[in-house]
Amino acid sequence: MPGTELFGDEERKEVMDVLNTGVLFRYNHDAQRQGHWKAKDFEAAISKFTGAKHALAVSSGSTAVSTMLAACGIGYGDHVIVPPFTFVATIEAVLWAGAIPVFAEIDETLCLSAEGIRNAITPNTKAVLLVHMCGASADLDGIMAVCKERNILLIEDTAQALGATYKGKHLGLHGKMGSFSFDFFKINTCGEGGVVITDDPELIRSAEYLSDHGHTHVGDNRGMEPHPIMGTNFRIGEINAAIGLAQARKLPYILEQQRRHKAIIQERLAKIPGLAFRKQCDDAGDSATFFHLLLPDEASARGAVKAMGEAGLGVAYWYDNMYHYIKQWDHVKDMRMPFRTVAQELGLPQDLHTLRFPKSDAVMSRLISFNIRVTWTEAELDALLKKMEWVVRKAMEGVTA
Ligand SMILES: *Cc1c(COP(=O)(O)O)cnc(C)c1O
Repeated sequence: MPGTELFGDEERKEVMDVLNTGVLFRYNHDAQRQGHWKAKDFEAAISKFTGAKHALAVSSGSTAVSTMLAACGIGYGDHVIVPPFTFVATIEAVLWAGAIPVFAEIDETLCLSAEGIRNAITPNTKAVLLVHMCGASADLDGIMAVCKERNILLIEDTAQALGATYKGKHLGLHGKMGSFSFDFFKINTCGEGGVVITDDPELIRSAEYLSDHGHTHVGDNRGMEPHPIMGTNFRIGEINAAIGLAQARKLPYILEQQRRHKAIIQERLAKIPGLAFRKQCDDAGDSATFFHLLLPDEASARGAVKAMGEAGLGVAYWYDNMYHYIKQWDHVKDMRMPFRTVAQELGLPQDLHTLRFPKSDAVMSRLISFNIRVTWTEAELDALLKKMEWVVRKAMEGVTA
């Protein structure tokens, strides 16, 4: 959670600008706001940082995904290919769109694989909602080739990978649109917030209208603006945007520190025979928010997780996590919503209760992840690695014995 680690005076200063004028709303009130346009400045900062031609800030990473799907024309009954390993928000956004999630396999990149996508395509497939999990890129060359060949839209849920690149280009710019989350647990936080990016001026215009009841934001009389389309309220507030702005300025430092720490971890742990790591599609482009170990099998992974817990090392074993892997998503499999969804009405092409993910399970059951902190001292990192090396070596002995 690098953003929260560095929360400080810079964020307070931006927030005070807003509190001093009292203009909490991102549009209009030009005179009263004394030149402070935090949402606009936040968008400009993300645009500049990622190299995106356009950026739109919204109320969350979840509403950012909904905004992208809607702007890209995803709706009633469209099949959208999604990964079984993601934060559940990805799937929820597809359902809220009136579209139908179709699950495909991931591989050791921790993201959808080109092969998995190919195997999940149906005649109704309209888009792939690609999640760049845990801060690094999927196999974009392979995936873009499948999307192109089968005439499917690529949309990137980049909630977890702000700052990461693939072949020099920021994630979120390889498909039609990309979205970021600024919730409390992401690389940058503004409390609650999200940003949508794209190079397409039509799509960003649709996204802007959708996020604010069809308002065009032309002129200074909100009540008299024309409404080209309907939308909803996915707006970000000025206070959240102010925090996001201060956080965005810290991104270069955050990435530099994380990447430095990752290199140290990598060098140390690579010395353990038989231990594998996440497959990187662009190692230098990894935002290095997480470090990922792939143990030889489920038993050794579970053994290591237990020992790490006992040694006071905070790690994630996503295979058992309630919100990130389909294995625990009973509420999704049952389509538990207080209303009847389009997906239920039209039917999913997959039976989620019996659907199996042998390839994904083979990766997830062996995967152990931990956060790379920005604020580690060298001594802290060294102490952590000493414990980790000991525990992992021990778990690996169990395999060979
Ligand atoms: C966090 C996250 C979201 C949702 O973002 P919020 O800001 O929490 O709404 C969507 N997709 C993925 C992959 C995420 O990790």
